[in-house]
Amino acid sequence: MSEHRTGAPGRVKEVTSLANPLVKDIKALSLKKFRDQQNAFLAEGLKLVIDALDLGWTIKTLIFAKSALGNQAVEKIAARTVALGGDVLEVSEKVLTAITRRDNPQAVVGVFSQRFVPLKDIRPKGNDVWVALDRVRDPGNLGTVIRTVDAVGAKGVILVGDTTDPFSLETVRATMGSIFAVPVAKTHPDAFLEWRKNFPGTVAGTHLKGAVDYRSVDFGNRPVLLMMGNEQQGLPDNLADACDKLLRIPQAGRADSLNLAVATGVMLFEIRRGALKL
Ligand code: SAM
Repeated sequence: MSEHRTGAPGRVKEVTSLANPLVKDIKALSLKKFRDQQNAFLAEGLKLVIDALDLGWTIKTLIFAKSALGNQAVEKIAARTVALGGDVLEVSEKVLTAITRRDNPQAVVGVFSQRFVPLKDIRPKGNDVWVALDRVRDPGNLGTVIRTVDAVGAKGVILVGDTTDPFSLETVRATMGSIFAVPVAKTHPDAFLEWRKNFPGTVAGTHLKGAVDYRSVDFGNRPVLLMMGNEQQGLPDNLADACDKLLRIPQAGRADSLNLAVATGVMLFEIRRGALKL
């Protein structure tokens, strides 16, 4: 490992060996156990890293490909990282491939501190929309929901029960950067049900056996909590019973249900129809 200066004012460590302990720690972030131990996660791409810093996320390490040396935008973000107290690693393509576990990796990767919003701090008002996901399993679904919540201007996502990790590489990729814009809370079902008691608006569950067509509901100008069920089992009785209404999206054809993220998208565009002037 050597240290030198690039166009960035801070020191940059050059790393080419996969055996380097810094690289080992970053590679370990592919496992939840180590993400939690280090309270960290990876996000790929220059634009994402710039957006994350603009939104006030804490960068621990910026990693960039040797081939990006001389790129002004990369050198600027490297300087910004150093100024914020983060480390900067200039690495070989081989090291980047190992860290991101993909061929043709992006030239810039950031290691950020994880951030969850405490459930008790979520106090919906106005026409705020929150999405509660019951035991979501699939990282692609979770990432897509976070991205859609961002796109429709809903407020955030509450993960209820045992869920896939919002900070896994797969989920973060699927959010396409929205992980930095959308607050995420995680909670036990009992704590969620307690919090729900004080929800100052409509709690709308979605269910294949829902009695109400989702298009017939006037969501009005009040907060909405949209509850979505687990991919295999749907909403369990205790969560379904806590809903003011159980809504159904009518279907034709042979499919027995919609994909979780698709159903969430359909619901969110309906609930936000007025706000989005659709
Ligand atoms: N086998 C599961 C069941 O019996 O509920 C299917 C779950 S579905 C893949 C995942 C979630 O998406 C459901 O729990 C529900 O929240 C929502 N969903 C999917 N299709 C729906 C529909 N047609 N109407 C209402 N909600 C739906």
